[in-house]
Amino acid sequence: MGCPVYVIGGWVRDIHLGRDSKDIDIVVVGSGVELAGRVAEKLGKKEKLKVFKNFGTAMLRWNEWEVEFVGARKESYRYESRKPIVEDASLEEDMKRRDFTINAMAISLNPENFGELIDPFSGLEDLKNKIIRTPLDPDETYSDDPLRMMRAIRFASQLDFKIDCGSFEAIKRNAYRIGIVSMERIMDEFNKILLAPVPGKGLKMLRASGLLKEFFPELDQLHGVEVVDGKAHKDNFFHTLQVLDNLAERTDDLWLRWAALLHDIAKPATKKFNPDVGWTFHGHEFLGKKMVPRIFRRLKLPMNEKMKYVQKLVLLHLRPIVLSTNVVTDSAVRRLLFEAGDDIDDLMLLCEADITSGNPEKVKRYLENFELVRKKLREIEEKDHLRNWQPPVTGDDIMQAFNLKPSKEVGLIKAAIREAILDGEIPNQREEAYRLMLDEGKKLGLTPVDSKN
Ligand code: ATP
Ligand code: MG
Repeated sequence: MGCPVYVIGGWVRDIHLGRDSKDIDIVVVGSGVELAGRVAEKLGKKEKLKVFKNFGTAMLRWNEWEVEFVGARKESYRYESRKPIVEDASLEEDMKRRDFTINAMAISLNPENFGELIDPFSGLEDLKNKIIRTPLDPDETYSDDPLRMMRAIRFASQLDFKIDCGSFEAIKRNAYRIGIVSMERIMDEFNKILLAPVPGKGLKMLRASGLLKEFFPELDQLHGVEVVDGKAHKDNFFHTLQVLDNLAERTDDLWLRWAALLHDIAKPATKKFNPDVGWTFHGHEFLGKKMVPRIFRRLKLPMNEKMKYVQKLVLLHLRPIVLSTNVVTDSAVRRLLFEAGDDIDDLMLLCEADITSGNPEKVKRYLENFELVRKKLREIEEKDHLRNWQPPVTGDDIMQAFNLKPSKEVGLIKAAIREAILDGEIPNQREEAYRLMLDEGKKLGLTPVDSKN
């Protein structure tokens, strides 16, 4: 074919960072699709080739590698869309349209200068100095494709880099343009920020740039401190970030990190000042649980069991701490196990992360109490097996015993058994539960079918 070919973008950046990367982008000054076809044929892997005619790109899977081929291109944008009008172009033009200098380096694959680094915007220098900077005027780069603002903060978070000052100012000026980007793409980047080693750093940048309030106003509104009668409450935005960063030290689970992000989301809406006790946020866990589905829907996050999991942790996030400040009773522990089920360990992680007092004595005392709660949880779970509680007497059993159809009585008897077990009045066992069922039935004026029982 005789066309110049280069490796470009993320892979070149990552080898200089010593990061392992399985995505390789190949740019050809010519037809990417044609080159991809020839490479696939040579490797005998034609069946592994996917061609995207509309985009003029092709993707080849080869062992653990994903190689993408594209022709060098230049792009021009219309104001209302981030989808560019694309034309064939030189390598130089192609590199100019890339988002950051560290992503605009190429390595030649051509015989005359094989392996040579092509670095027109000093990306290597920026890599060494840990700087995110755009190759062209940042206002133009960000306005053309506003997703790049999210990517800037994402790379800064993942790599622990600084965003160049001029670039950050340009993000502030263009933040309102994020509205032309689909929520799915915004969330891809946002989730990568959440999964960074210290997610709080990226979230601070999102807020300071003005991006956060554009797509996630509920989180932005956690920011701020109000003072009445000389009494201030804590800034719930920075508190939330601290909880998230504490938790991030102990888990990479995206949805547990989401639970940390949302645990106090209803504090602004439930905030009240009471002259006797100061600031209160009564019921923020209940309202928070209600807000989760609305937020997930708007952010185009999955409306599935992950969302329910986040809801549950938001709802229960105060329970272990309440337990640890009171006398830890068996029945309170039983109820917590019953409600949290298999998510109890995650809930405990979240609650420990939620202890952000500046007073080390206080933190120490809380953590010690938590150890006590954990010990109690283990003891009670061993004895009563409430984590995945199945009623020892089922609705069917009750209907059979009293020859009932599904009815209010069945529900009442079931609830009485559950409460008796949780309060420790009877053990979590069939025989005792059956006996209680008969007693409860009699109280309701029911007669057992087999009166021997
Ligand atoms: P990662 O794969 O870790 O997300 P990456 O830099 O490889 O990072 P990709 O989305 O795979 O990111 O993109 C590959 C390359 O394409 C980038 O390195 C960059 O040169 C270019 N690129 C990607 N998205 C954009 C964009 N929105 N604007 C400009 N250039 C982009
Ligand atoms: Mg990549």
